[in-house]
Order: sequence, then C-alpha cells, then structure tokens
Amino acid sequence: MSLVFVTAARLLDGRGGPPIKPGRVLIEGDRIRSLGATLQPPAEAQRYDFPDATILPGLIDCHVHLADVGEADPKDSAGEDDAVRVLRLAQHAARTLRAGVTTVRDLGGRNHLEFGFRQGVEAGLAIAPRLWLCGKIVSMTTPGADMWPGMYRQADGPWEVAKAVREQVKAGADVIKVMASGAIMAPANERPGQAQYRPDELQAATETAHGLGRRVAAHAHGIEGIRNAVAAGVDTIEHGTYLHQDPAVATQMAARGIALVPTLKAVTLLADPPGPGIPAEIAEKARAARDHAGRSFRLAMEAGVPIAMGTDAATSFNHHGQNADELVLMVEGGMTPMQAITAATATAARALGRDHELGSLQPGFLADLIVVGGNPVDDVSLLRQPPQAVFLGGRLVV
Ligand SMILES: [Zn+2]
Repeated sequence: MSLVFVTAARLLDGRGGPPIKPGRVLIEGDRIRSLGATLQPPAEAQRYDFPDATILPGLIDCHVHLADVGEADPKDSAGEDDAVRVLRLAQHAARTLRAGVTTVRDLGGRNHLEFGFRQGVEAGLAIAPRLWLCGKIVSMTTPGADMWPGMYRQADGPWEVAKAVREQVKAGADVIKVMASGAIMAPANERPGQAQYRPDELQAATETAHGLGRRVAAHAHGIEGIRNAVAAGVDTIEHGTYLHQDPAVATQMAARGIALVPTLKAVTLLADPPGPGIPAEIAEKARAARDHAGRSFRLAMEAGVPIAMGTDAATSFNHHGQNADELVLMVEGGMTPMQAITAATATAARALGRDHELGSLQPGFLADLIVVGGNPVDDVSLLRQPPQAVFLGGRLVV
C-alpha cells in the first residue's frame, strides 16, 4: 500500500491539543498510520514538505446547500433545469474542497440530485468533499417550501412525517433535517420565531430516523422550536438564534451532547449584505435576528454546549468555498482560534456521529488533512487563504 510522508512546521490534532512541532504524518493508503514530532520517513514513502505551514484535519462544514448558488434572491434560480443544477453541484463541491473543507453535511438539496451527484463522484467524474446528505428537508406545510422548489418534503402529522423520513433514507440520506421553526429565507408570513412541527411530529421524526440509524438535524430559530426539538431528542440544532431566551434549554443541550450549529455567516450576510437584491422581508427578519444570534452563541459557549461549524452556504452572498469566514466570525463572537478550529474538526465530526474516523489526526483515522500557510492558532483568518495542500483519504487532491 502506498506510503505518504507529510511534514510542516507544526501539526494541530483537531481536538485542541498543543501543537506538535514539527508536524509529521505518515499516511498508508487512505488512513493515518502514525504521527509525531520525531517520526522518521520510511525510505519508500513519497514526501511532501511544507516548512512554514501547519497541518490540520480537513475542515468539516456541518451546514451547506451545495445545489444552490447564494444569489441575493433565491427566486432567481428557482426554475433552473436539473442538468444545470448538477453542474452547479460539481462546481460548488470542487470549490469547497479546494478551500480545505474535506467533509460537508448538506442540509437541503434539490430534487435528490445530490445522491446521483455523489455516485458520479464515486465514479471519478467530479471531485468533492465527503458528502453527508439529508436529501429533502422534512417540513410542515409552509410558504418557505415554495421559495425552494425541490428542497422540501412537506409532511403533516406523525405518520406522514415518518413516511417522509423513510423516503429520505430510501433515497440515500445519511441524516434527516426537520423544520422545528420558521425560516428567515422564506416569505414574510413564515416567521423564524414561530415554532413549526409539533412535539408529536418531531418525536415521530426522531424515532423513525434513529430507528434507521440516522441522526436528526433540526432547523430552529425561535426558543419554542428549539425547546421542542431538544425534547424530541434531535442531535443538532441549526441556527439556534433565540436560544439565549431560555438558558435551561442550553443546559439540557450541554448535558445531552446536542450540538449547536450557529451559522453566524448566514445571518450576518443577510442582515448586512455586501450588495443589493435581498428581498426586503428576508433582510428585515435577519436584522431582527442578528443580535440574538450573537447572544445565543455566547450563552452556548458559557453553558458548555458543543458548537460545530456550519456556514449555511448558499444563503444570500454566502458562497461555496468561503467556508472559513465562519471561523473568523466565531472568533469575533468570543471563541479562541483553537476553539473555532476544534468546532470545524473534532466537534463537527462528533455532531455527524463520525468522530471514530474523521475530524482529528490520529492513527487509524481517515487521512483527510490540509496544509495551510502560517499558524492559524495565531490568526484564524489564514484559513481563508487557499491551502497549500489538501489530502482526501490520503490522496493529494489540491
Ligand atoms: Zn440551511
């Protein structure tokens, strides 16, 4: 089996441990065989040396929409042909991988095209991060569904919710996404503070998904929606905008290991966009939510809630391949750079239920690692630069 030996000035393990200097990793096939400062290369190993750089696990973005563009108004691409969507998927996936993101959790595709796209990647027709897919979003009947044709599976009542979950699993879903509250990127009469699915419907979703070995990600802005989702036993809370309104819910999340994926970049760009064109009702909802999102992020940190990195890439101006912006916002929001890196590596892998093989550099783990110039522990914004190298399953892809 092929041996690859990678060295750099330092190595971060992804779990927040002290940097290993110098960083040295030996990869055998698609796995890490060993690592450490004193490791010596076997004679037959192929060598890559990066003198002024840092080796760290490939980043994991826990919330993207790879089939979508990120234009100001999502209605602009709503009627796009499926063939165009597939090409977009390929472009967005490649950009994301080149930016150092080696795993994405996609929390809402279009027409299940992402499952076929993944088959294409496996056949060598395109490059992509590891794809952890939900298929369609399972949601109550709601106006937001009309803004995103092919992204929602509307289902009402526990039995229909169970059926909708099974449909996603049948199509190939690795994770189930449910709507526990209204959305910001929806018409004005869908309100993010409003709870959506009832407790019995959320219970049906989690029981069905967990019974099939799939985790559940709950979109939830308003506190009642977050509370309902946590009570139903979901595995991650997406956005969590108004969590600070009930610290007891944050305490429960911490105790049960339910991760928050704060998606700070999404609300920031919607509230304070770099260009025109965002529908007024969406911008208004985002401006109302923004400060709450910051307060909830800080509360979650204080309460010990696991925080996993997710951009919600493809909300307005939230472009694929600029995923590291979220780490910069997390540091501005109160994290240390090392905490933000851990949110995008070990904690993200745990949120996906894949921390036995992803998200940190350890012997036996998948060899997904990136090499970035400089030291991101001093300056997390260095992760915004294109990495000097990206290894996916031991293969140099960038
Ligand atoms: Zn989303």
